[in-house]
Amino acid sequence: MQVKADLHVHTIYSRDSLITPKDLVFYARKRGLTAVAITDHDTVEGALKIAKETDLLIISGIEVSSRNGHIIGLNLQEPVEKGLSPDETVDKIHDAGGIAVACHPFALYKGSLGKHTNAKFDAIETINASAFPFGRCVRKATQIAERFRLPCVAGTDAHYGPAIGCAYTLIDAEPSVDAIAKAIVRGQCQPFGKSVPLTLTLKRQVRYLKSRLFSTR
Ligand SMILES: [Zn+2]
Ligand SMILES: [Zn+2]
Repeated sequence: MQVKADLHVHTIYSRDSLITPKDLVFYARKRGLTAVAITDHDTVEGALKIAKETDLLIISGIEVSSRNGHIIGLNLQEPVEKGLSPDETVDKIHDAGGIAVACHPFALYKGSLGKHTNAKFDAIETINASAFPFGRCVRKATQIAERFRLPCVAGTDAHYGPAIGCAYTLIDAEPSVDAIAKAIVRGQCQPFGKSVPLTLTLKRQVRYLKSRLFSTR
Protein backbone atom coordinates (compact mmCIF):
# COMPACT_ATOMS: atom_id res chain seq x y z
CA MET A 1 0.00 0.00 0.00
CA GLN A 2 1.08 3.59 -0.50
CA VAL A 3 0.69 6.27 2.13
CA LYS A 4 0.63 9.97 1.21
CA ALA A 5 1.89 11.96 4.19
CA ASP A 6 2.84 15.54 4.95
CA LEU A 7 5.65 14.90 7.42
CA HIS A 8 6.08 18.43 8.81
CA VAL A 9 3.07 20.32 10.17
CA HIS A 10 2.84 22.69 13.14
CA THR A 11 -0.36 23.20 15.13
CA ILE A 12 -1.40 25.85 17.65
CA TYR A 13 0.70 23.89 20.17
CA SER A 14 3.60 25.65 18.42
CA ARG A 15 3.25 29.31 19.33
CA ASP A 16 3.96 30.41 15.76
CA SER A 17 1.28 28.32 14.03
CA LEU A 18 -2.37 29.08 13.27
CA ILE A 19 -3.41 25.48 12.59
CA THR A 20 -6.15 24.22 14.89
CA PRO A 21 -6.85 20.49 15.18
CA LYS A 22 -9.98 21.06 13.07
CA ASP A 23 -7.98 22.86 10.32
CA LEU A 24 -5.43 20.10 10.30
CA VAL A 25 -7.95 17.35 9.65
CA PHE A 26 -9.97 19.45 7.17
CA TYR A 27 -7.02 20.40 4.95
CA ALA A 28 -5.34 17.00 5.20
CA ARG A 29 -8.49 15.36 3.86
CA LYS A 30 -8.96 18.07 1.23
CA ARG A 31 -5.42 17.39 -0.08
CA GLY A 32 -5.98 13.64 -0.11
CA LEU A 33 -3.38 12.91 2.55
CA THR A 34 -3.47 9.54 4.29
CA ALA A 35 -1.35 10.73 7.21
CA VAL A 36 0.07 13.87 8.78
CA ALA A 37 3.08 14.18 11.06
CA ILE A 38 2.50 16.77 13.76
CA THR A 39 5.91 18.23 14.54
CA ASP A 40 5.43 21.09 16.98
CA HIS A 41 8.40 22.97 18.37
CA ASP A 42 9.78 21.09 21.39
CA THR A 43 6.47 19.49 22.40
CA VAL A 44 4.46 16.35 21.59
CA GLU A 45 1.45 17.50 23.60
CA GLY A 46 -0.71 18.51 20.63
CA ALA A 47 0.35 15.55 18.51
CA LEU A 48 -0.64 13.01 21.17
CA LYS A 49 -3.89 14.78 21.96
CA ILE A 50 -4.97 15.25 18.34
CA ALA A 51 -4.01 11.65 17.46
CA LYS A 52 -6.58 10.44 20.01
CA GLU A 53 -9.31 12.76 18.79
CA THR A 54 -9.34 12.02 15.05
CA ASP A 55 -9.45 8.97 12.83
CA LEU A 56 -6.98 10.64 10.45
CA LEU A 57 -3.65 8.82 10.80
CA ILE A 58 -1.44 11.11 12.91
CA ILE A 59 2.29 10.49 13.23
CA SER A 60 3.23 12.02 16.55
CA GLY A 61 6.44 13.92 16.19
CA ILE A 62 8.41 16.88 17.39
CA GLU A 63 10.74 19.51 15.96
CA VAL A 64 13.55 19.76 18.49
CA SER A 65 15.71 22.88 18.70
CA SER A 66 19.12 21.25 19.06
CA ARG A 67 22.13 23.41 19.81
CA ASN A 68 23.03 23.53 16.12
CA GLY A 69 19.68 23.48 14.36
CA HIS A 70 16.24 21.94 14.09
CA ILE A 71 15.78 18.17 14.09
CA ILE A 72 12.53 16.27 13.57
CA GLY A 73 11.71 13.17 15.57
CA LEU A 74 8.87 10.99 14.28
CA ASN A 75 6.94 8.24 16.07
CA LEU A 76 7.52 9.58 19.57
CA GLN A 77 5.31 9.36 22.65
CA GLU A 78 7.45 11.69 24.73
CA PRO A 79 9.32 14.94 24.08
CA VAL A 80 13.07 15.14 23.54
CA GLU A 81 14.83 17.94 25.38
CA LYS A 82 16.09 20.93 23.48
CA GLY A 83 19.54 22.51 23.58
CA LEU A 84 21.53 19.28 23.17
CA SER A 85 24.07 18.65 20.42
CA PRO A 86 22.66 17.18 17.18
CA ASP A 87 24.29 13.80 17.94
CA GLU A 88 22.81 13.69 21.44
CA THR A 89 19.42 14.73 20.07
CA VAL A 90 19.44 11.94 17.48
CA ASP A 91 20.44 9.42 20.19
CA LYS A 92 17.59 10.59 22.44
CA ILE A 93 15.10 10.26 19.57
CA HIS A 94 16.33 6.71 18.89
CA ASP A 95 16.24 5.82 22.61
CA ALA A 96 12.61 6.94 22.69
CA GLY A 97 11.81 4.64 19.76
CA GLY A 98 11.59 7.35 17.11
CA ILE A 99 13.37 8.15 13.86
CA ALA A 100 15.40 11.32 13.30
CA VAL A 101 15.06 13.56 10.26
CA ALA A 102 17.38 16.45 9.38
CA CYS A 103 14.73 19.01 8.43
CA HIS A 104 15.34 21.96 6.06
CA PRO A 105 19.13 21.46 6.48
CA PHE A 106 20.07 24.46 4.32
CA ALA A 107 17.16 26.88 4.70
CA LEU A 108 17.97 30.45 5.67
CA TYR A 109 16.34 32.08 8.72
CA LYS A 110 15.10 28.77 10.09
CA GLY A 111 17.66 27.41 12.53
CA SER A 112 19.09 24.89 10.08
CA LEU A 113 21.71 22.22 10.73
CA GLY A 114 23.86 23.02 7.68
CA LYS A 115 27.23 21.36 8.13
CA HIS A 116 26.02 19.56 11.26
CA THR A 117 23.89 17.27 9.07
CA ASN A 118 25.50 13.83 9.20
CA ALA A 119 25.02 10.14 8.47
CA LYS A 120 23.53 9.49 11.92
CA PHE A 121 20.14 10.69 10.73
CA ASP A 122 17.53 8.25 9.46
CA ALA A 123 16.42 10.57 6.65
CA ILE A 124 16.90 14.02 5.16
CA GLU A 125 13.98 16.37 4.50
CA THR A 126 15.04 17.23 0.96
CA ILE A 127 11.83 19.12 0.17
CA ASN A 128 10.58 21.61 2.77
CA ALA A 129 7.85 23.69 1.15
CA SER A 130 8.59 26.67 3.41
CA ALA A 131 12.35 26.73 2.90
CA PHE A 132 14.02 29.80 1.42
CA PRO A 133 15.53 29.97 -1.17
CA PHE A 134 13.50 26.95 -2.21
CA GLY A 135 15.35 25.63 -5.27
CA ARG A 136 18.77 25.92 -3.68
CA CYS A 137 17.55 24.24 -0.47
CA VAL A 138 16.16 21.26 -2.38
CA ARG A 139 19.36 20.89 -4.44
CA LYS A 140 21.74 21.07 -1.51
CA ALA A 141 19.62 18.79 0.71
CA THR A 142 19.35 16.22 -2.11
CA GLN A 143 23.13 16.31 -2.57
CA ILE A 144 23.78 15.65 1.09
CA ALA A 145 21.20 12.82 1.17
CA GLU A 146 23.01 11.23 -1.79
CA ARG A 147 26.40 11.73 -0.13
CA PHE A 148 25.27 9.95 3.06
CA ARG A 149 23.00 7.51 1.16
CA LEU A 150 20.04 8.51 3.30
CA PRO A 151 16.32 8.31 2.47
CA CYS A 152 14.65 11.54 1.29
CA VAL A 153 11.38 12.83 2.73
CA ALA A 154 9.24 15.94 2.22
CA GLY A 155 7.01 18.10 4.37
CA THR A 156 5.38 21.49 4.17
CA ASP A 157 6.52 22.95 7.52
CA ALA A 158 2.96 24.29 7.48
CA HIS A 159 1.93 26.97 9.97
CA TYR A 160 -1.32 27.85 8.13
CA GLY A 161 -4.04 25.35 7.19
CA PRO A 162 -4.29 25.95 3.43
CA ALA A 163 -0.55 25.25 3.05
CA ILE A 164 -0.87 21.65 4.30
CA GLY A 165 0.05 19.18 1.57
CA CYS A 166 2.20 21.58 -0.52
CA ALA A 167 4.93 18.99 0.02
CA TYR A 168 4.35 15.34 0.84
CA THR A 169 6.07 11.98 0.96
CA LEU A 170 4.80 8.82 -0.72
CA ILE A 171 5.68 5.85 1.45
CA ASP A 172 5.33 2.17 0.58
CA ALA A 173 3.80 1.01 3.84
CA GLU A 174 0.65 -0.14 5.51
CA PRO A 175 -1.15 2.83 7.10
CA SER A 176 0.25 2.50 10.60
CA VAL A 177 2.77 4.75 12.30
CA ASP A 178 5.25 1.94 13.01
CA ALA A 179 5.08 0.63 9.43
CA ILE A 180 5.56 4.16 8.05
CA ALA A 181 8.59 4.82 10.27
CA LYS A 182 10.20 1.50 9.30
CA ALA A 183 9.57 2.09 5.60
CA ILE A 184 11.19 5.54 5.79
CA VAL A 185 14.31 4.07 7.43
CA ARG A 186 14.47 1.47 4.65
CA GLY A 187 14.18 4.20 2.04
CA GLN A 188 10.81 3.02 0.73
CA CYS A 189 9.70 6.60 0.27
CA GLN A 190 9.83 9.45 -2.21
CA PRO A 191 9.58 13.22 -1.67
CA PHE A 192 7.26 15.47 -3.73
CA GLY A 193 6.12 19.04 -3.61
CA LYS A 194 6.67 22.66 -4.32
CA SER A 195 7.17 25.87 -2.45
CA VAL A 196 4.23 27.30 -0.47
CA PRO A 197 2.71 29.98 -2.77
CA LEU A 198 3.70 33.53 -1.79
CA THR A 199 0.04 34.59 -1.48
CA LEU A 200 -0.50 31.94 1.20
CA THR A 201 2.63 33.00 3.05
CA LEU A 202 1.45 36.62 3.07
CA LYS A 203 -2.07 35.65 4.18
CA ARG A 204 -0.56 33.63 6.99
CA GLN A 205 1.58 36.59 8.11
CA VAL A 206 -1.44 38.92 8.23
CA ARG A 207 -3.58 36.37 10.13
CA TYR A 208 -0.72 35.70 12.51
CA LEU A 209 -0.10 39.38 13.26
CA LYS A 210 -3.83 39.91 13.83
CA SER A 211 -3.96 36.94 16.18
CA ARG A 212 -1.04 38.37 18.17
CA LEU A 213 -2.51 41.88 18.27
CA PHE A 214 -5.82 40.66 19.64
CA SER A 215 -4.34 37.98 21.81
CA THR A 216 -4.75 38.29 25.55
CA ARG A 217 -1.79 36.00 26.22
ZN1 LIG B 1 12.49 24.26 11.60
ZN1 LIG C 1 8.97 23.33 11.33
